[in-house]
Amino acid sequence: MNKIEHIGIAVKSLEEAIPRYEQLLKTPCYKTEQVESEQVNTAFFKVGESKIELLESMDPAGVIAKFIEKRGEGLHHTAYDVTNIEAEMNRLKEAGFVLLNETPKKGADNKWVCFVHPKHTNGVLIELCQEIR
Ligand code: ZN
Repeated sequence: MNKIEHIGIAVKSLEEAIPRYEQLLKTPCYKTEQVESEQVNTAFFKVGESKIELLESMDPAGVIAKFIEKRGEGLHHTAYDVTNIEAEMNRLKEAGFVLLNETPKKGADNKWVCFVHPKHTNGVLIELCQEIR
């Protein structure tokens, strides 16, 4: 894996969280994007080589809403940049990790993504991402 691409943080309200993170990071949000497949609204910030992704549920029954209900706002996933997502998926599957999608899917910010179940990663949901070229 090449680097931490971004850290995903579950928030109740982007409207409230964006100005707070702009103040915290001293950088403007450079992109907001709706990801239909995940039922989330996202907002991105650049921090050096990595990014912060804020996630707000589009749907009160969506995965982010359920996550916040259970665990509160906070760290939702860490995302790693990979060169060949299918090769990494096969490598992890062979090593016994549980992938949450069998084929790469289109995620936010022009990426192919795959999620790895947190039960084998010490409680942290993992996202693999590869830039769509
Ligand atoms: Zn993410």
